[in-house]
Amino acid sequence: MIYLVEDEANIREFVLYALAGQGFEAQGFEKPSQFFAALERQLPELVLLDLMLPEEDGLSVLKRFRAAPATRHVPVIILSAKDTEFDKVLGLDSGADDYLPKPFGMLELFSRIRAVLRRSQSAVPPQEYRMGALLVRPSRRETLVNGSPVALTPKEFEILCLLLQNPGLVLSRAQIQDHVWGMEYLGETRTVDVHIRTLRQKLGPCGELIETVRGVGYRLAAPL
Ligand code: CA
Repeated sequence: MIYLVEDEANIREFVLYALAGQGFEAQGFEKPSQFFAALERQLPELVLLDLMLPEEDGLSVLKRFRAAPATRHVPVIILSAKDTEFDKVLGLDSGADDYLPKPFGMLELFSRIRAVLRRSQSAVPPQEYRMGALLVRPSRRETLVNGSPVALTPKEFEILCLLLQNPGLVLSRAQIQDHVWGMEYLGETRTVDVHIRTLRQKLGPCGELIETVRGVGYRLAAPL
């Protein structure tokens, strides 16, 4: 899935149409708020981002996108009419993987998309994690216990994914806090404990998979 954030309707429709013709599944968004709402439902493999947007500047969108643990590794290509060397350097230094000035040719766009996707393949998280009765699909932000969906908050979901990525490893509260909250202000590390407690409750029988390591932090146990 490719997400395109572009406020000009004719460019958006044209790029979506061209992507579909190449077999890429893609969705377009006029405004950053619509884009961030869609991220809560499904993560894309790649984002095409315009810079001059309503509501919020594209560079600010990019910085928020890079600051969130769930989207930190998703590649971004900037598509912008701002075409000076300074603009490109600013975009790339803000976390973009590539920068394509407008107007651009579709063939060049496809070729850059393929190049960025090739580079990011190894960084793509697995489609799903299975552990006993627990099944988690990160790209769909989906958690199932014994086949039934479990509604987790975004932070609970990120903690669970972090534990699943490091099975058997003890993660300290500070490590969990760094990964899940990043630079966001967090009063105290007790917040991690509170989230773990609600996470365990919501996971029901699978809550036991999350072990407390006294004085250190938490660990995802191997299933019996
Ligand atoms: Ca624009």
